[in-house]
Amino acid sequence: MPVPAENPHKQDARPEFWQLSMRCCQLAGSVDVAFLFIFLMLGSPILAWINVISVAMYVYAYRAFSQRRNRLAILLIRTEVLVHAGLGTLLIGWESGFHYFLLMFIPALFVTMRLRGAWILAACLWTYYVGLDVLMWYLPPLQPISSNALLGVHVFNLTVVFGMFSYLALFYVVTVTRAHKSLARMATTDSLTGLFNRRHMITQIEKALARQHRCPSNLTLMLMDIDHFKHINDQYGHDMGDRVLNAVSDLLKSSMRDQDYIGRWGGEEFLAVLPETDLDQATVSAERIRKAIQALVIDSDGHKVSVTLSIGITQYRAQEALSNAIARADQALYEGKSAGRNRVEVALA
Ligand code: GH3
Ligand code: MG
Ligand code: MG
Repeated sequence: MPVPAENPHKQDARPEFWQLSMRCCQLAGSVDVAFLFIFLMLGSPILAWINVISVAMYVYAYRAFSQRRNRLAILLIRTEVLVHAGLGTLLIGWESGFHYFLLMFIPALFVTMRLRGAWILAACLWTYYVGLDVLMWYLPPLQPISSNALLGVHVFNLTVVFGMFSYLALFYVVTVTRAHKSLARMATTDSLTGLFNRRHMITQIEKALARQHRCPSNLTLMLMDIDHFKHINDQYGHDMGDRVLNAVSDLLKSSMRDQDYIGRWGGEEFLAVLPETDLDQATVSAERIRKAIQALVIDSDGHKVSVTLSIGITQYRAQEALSNAIARADQALYEGKSAGRNRVEVALA
């Protein structure tokens, strides 16, 4: 009886959605097995037989899902819920609560379908639901059961509907939270190296500068560029170039303190921001990093590759534009390149 979320756009659906649908089939089938025994005990063979058919439909829908025949599975589930809710209501009355299962279609329609289709199906569902309700005002149940049994069925149905709604709500919340986290990660990090991307670095630096305006302290920028990186690509191929970028990024990341930020500023260029650090301290760190990169050997595809790094350092001057400070670090880096590379160059104050 319970209805899972539905998504007729097979190409849009994610694996979690079909896993959820399959789990819903198992759950709904189990609920109908329980109903089968309940109605046998209550002496209602027609209702018991309806549940035998329902269980068979869920088993078939489950098989269809596992064979990726999703449209067929969805059609089976929709038919089962519509017919079962209708028959249950007609046979033992509106109080049975079978109609509540129909309401579970509403969020599923709007969350997973295109808006126009969802509105049309919601209107059809409303017509069916209200039609059934009005009909039961005038029509007595075709196969009534005792009032105690009716209360039991009513409470059972409400409980299942509550459980299913909670389960679906949890699924949607988890899915949306995961999607949000993954979007945030994609928007802030560089996909190759996992370092902050340039845009996020600018945001982070601006935050650091705002803190610095409130509480002035030394802040140093370090612009780093791999020397002759083009040769690596030309000689060993682009993939090896990517591996070198990854290895260098990992080493840079592990060389930073917790309060520092490091990002990929361009192709083979990195920018680090060192709060509460003066030029002398930054120069010591930069030398340490330069030596560590020089000692790094990237062993891949039978090749041992080494690279060097040129570093330009500058101290941020109170109230100046960030672009000025970066241009100074860039100038220092350029001087380091001109002076032979594999060097740390400090921008003149
Ligand atoms: P210099 O010492 O003057 O910095 O020389 P360079 O060769 O490192 O600098 P250049 O600017 O001439 O070349 C940088 C190269 O980096 C060119 C570009 O194809 C490569 N590159 C940029 N991004 C990537 C990337 O994501 N992966 C790989 N494999 N290569 C990249
Ligand atoms: Mg370079
Ligand atoms: Mg460069």
